[in-house]
Amino acid sequence: MADWIPLTVPCFRGNESAYLQECLDTNFVSSSGPAVEEFEKEFAEFVGAKFAVACNSGSAALHIALRVAGANAGLEVAVSSFTFIASVNAAAYCQSSPLLVDSEWETWNLDSNRLYDEVTRRAKAGKPLPAVIEPVHILGHPVDLEPLLDLRQKFGIPIVEDAAEALGATYNADALAGKGVGTIGDLGCFSFNGNKIITTGGGGMIVTGDKALARRARHLTVQAKSPGIEYVHDQVGYNYRMTNLAASLGRAQLELLPDFLVAKRKIADRYVEGLTGLPIEFPPLAPWANPSNWLFSVLLGEGCPPKEFVVDELRARGIESRPLWLPAHLQSPYLGANRLGGDVAEALHVRGISLPSSVGLDPADQERVIETLQEILGRP
Ligand SMILES: *Cc1c(COP(=O)(O)O)cnc(C)c1O
Repeated sequence: MADWIPLTVPCFRGNESAYLQECLDTNFVSSSGPAVEEFEKEFAEFVGAKFAVACNSGSAALHIALRVAGANAGLEVAVSSFTFIASVNAAAYCQSSPLLVDSEWETWNLDSNRLYDEVTRRAKAGKPLPAVIEPVHILGHPVDLEPLLDLRQKFGIPIVEDAAEALGATYNADALAGKGVGTIGDLGCFSFNGNKIITTGGGGMIVTGDKALARRARHLTVQAKSPGIEYVHDQVGYNYRMTNLAASLGRAQLELLPDFLVAKRKIADRYVEGLTGLPIEFPPLAPWANPSNWLFSVLLGEGCPPKEFVVDELRARGIESRPLWLPAHLQSPYLGANRLGGDVAEALHVRGISLPSSVGLDPADQERVIETLQEILGRP
């Protein structure tokens, strides 16, 4: 059988080994070590943020970011229902209730206008408002943030961007032109899990322009320990700090990120070119957005076999694909959660599959994916 083509695997072709070896040689393997702060500094510079706090996962970053943004017990966090579950779990870790917002067709992201209408309606009726808004830049496409920034201005609701899938994505129009995802809200969170655009094995980053928020976030990631050698802790903290090993890997990967972003865009462009004519829909591309093209995904259209069949058929021919997420409002822990609609999120799940998108994807392998899909879905 032909070689297996995985969905998305990391690519190490820079200074990874050298930087990791340095950790071993200097004995800096855990969280104390120079690479953690260097990675924070370099990362902040890359995305255009003032401060960065390195964590041991994207989930940890979201938990801490929501907490310092004010998500507490009994409050509500407005978040996309169509997302990887970690976005929603972060609200639950803060004992907040998620308000699960449906997606819009234009971007597949949280429907900002719908949330805007709901919040203004509630404000007029004197009802409680969400404590935090957590937009998720799904699959690397930026969220339409303008309506959320209006809400922030009118009602003071902080924004925590979940940019786990969107490192390197930017806006290219109006007030946000040139700005990177994650740097526009009060706080932004990234993930360096093995399947993300750069990886540290496991890791995450919080960025913010607010020094006090950065300080509070960092404090919580190190067990909220007060300075000094005594074990004095001023609140319930967490062991969430990134290790020097992970940060070293991250520094090497960050050097490659510009190339990775180009590779991802080329992969997406080639899929669009090669699959045009098939009864499928391509991922959205708003005129004001430069996405990170993290994981190229399509929606099967009318006349296509069911998603399960397509995924099985691809697997039988050595190609990994994956359904898009089951929305959070259909997941056991959140069946009773408040929500705003959900039909679009459900349709994305029913019709959507992701295709191999590794930055190191061999062009010949990509052609094999394209030809196989043409065979399964009918040649144009
Ligand atoms: C990957 C991901 C996370 C969580 O990151 P981890 O590093 O795996 O904890 C959060 N949100 C979204 C949207 C993600 O894709």
